[in-house]
Amino acid sequence: MAYKITDECISCGACEPDCPNQAITEGDTQYDIDPDRCTECIGSYESSRCADLCPVDSCVPDPAHEETKEQLLEKWRKLHSGEEPAAGTY
Ligand code: SF4
Ligand code: SF4
Repeated sequence: MAYKITDECISCGACEPDCPNQAITEGDTQYDIDPDRCTECIGSYESSRCADLCPVDSCVPDPAHEETKEQLLEKWRKLHSGEEPAAGTY
């Protein structure tokens, strides 16, 4: 499932440059994740980069976006046309 950013976000910006899908953007009061671009880092990393980097644990799975690993990998393929997913990430 796609991740979301909670209200605890302190807008430090640490997560944004490391998202492999450019899913994270700076909003008016906090950073946001575009669920159409978030693959839980499937295809790129073995764990979710934003969650690993966030100093206040505000990057969390969003139950409103239930998806299977297969759906997340398909999303990744659409975002990375012509590339192959990294081994061990899906
Ligand atoms: S889980 Fe990965 S793909 Fe999703 S927003 Fe975080 S860094 Fe980006
Ligand atoms: S790393 Fe965490 S606190 Fe910093 S901008 Fe991202 S979600 Fe917000």
